[in-house]
This record gives sequence, structure tokens and C-alpha cells, in this order.
Amino acid sequence: MPNCEMCGRGVGVLKRAKIEGAVLDVCDGCAVKGEVIRTPYAGGQRSGGTMRPAREVKVVEYEVVSGFGKVIHNARKGREWDVKKLSLVLHAKETLMHKIEAGKIKPDLSFAQRIEHALGVKLVEKVEEDEDDGKSAGSSRGGMTLADFVKVKKVKK
Ligand SMILES: [Zn+2]
Repeated sequence: MPNCEMCGRGVGVLKRAKIEGAVLDVCDGCAVKGEVIRTPYAGGQRSGGTMRPAREVKVVEYEVVSGFGKVIHNARKGREWDVKKLSLVLHAKETLMHKIEAGKIKPDLSFAQRIEHALGVKLVEKVEEDEDDGKSAGSSRGGMTLADFVKVKKVKK
């Protein structure tokens, strides 16, 4: 069983994530601290011969969208909030919010979701990965984002 390169936990499936500039194979818990490059990453899947039962589990990942800083900035401006107001609403440091808006710091998932609720924007996107058997060519991607977007618009007052 491969081990997470961050915390050392033994997990079945590792994710390749960029964390603080380093590319590591990590567990779910650690992956959210960085930017997932590829998921899932199963260690040593290559060995031919072993007949593993097909896993029906769909891997559902959530990622903070790229360009989050701009999204937050524009939404905040749209509400005519200054950074101070936003940081108060989020119970976050003003300097942190400046850095996030500048794209220097990427909020983690839970914080991104709080920003989503505060501003009525879309910051976290769902990434669904089929198991990597190369047979699911018919899976359609992209419909999800639009549906989510509509949902967000409804929330907005
Ligand atoms: Zn870990």
C-alpha cells in the first residue's frame, strides 16, 4: 500500500498534488492543502495479471477554481464591499483576503465554500473522475458546471 508523502498515512489511492511548490503523491486529506494535478493516482496499478474487481466507486473531487481571486474580487466589488467588510463577514484577516484576491494564496475548500456563500459566487467545482479503465468514452463533461452555475444564480439575491 502506498504511503502519503505528506503525512505518511497508508492509503489505497494517492493523488498527485502540488503542495507549496512540490509535487507529491498524497492522501485525500493532504491533497486539499494543495492543487491536485491528477486524480486518482493508484500506485502500482501497472502489474498485469491480477484480476481486480471493477470498483464502482466514482471518485468525486472538489477543487477551487483557477482565477478564484478575480471571482472574489469582482463579486466583492459588485456588492460594494471593501476588503475589510468581506473579511469581517468571513471572520478572516483582511491581509489574508487581500492575498487571496491577488491569487497569492489559494483558499482551502472549506474556506472557499464560505466565500461562496458570502458572495454568492462559484469557487469550488466538482470534478468527477471515472475509474481509469479507458472504457468510459461516452461520459459527458461540462454539463455539470452550467447546472451549478444556475444554482448559484438562484441563491444570489
Ligand atoms: Zn496525507
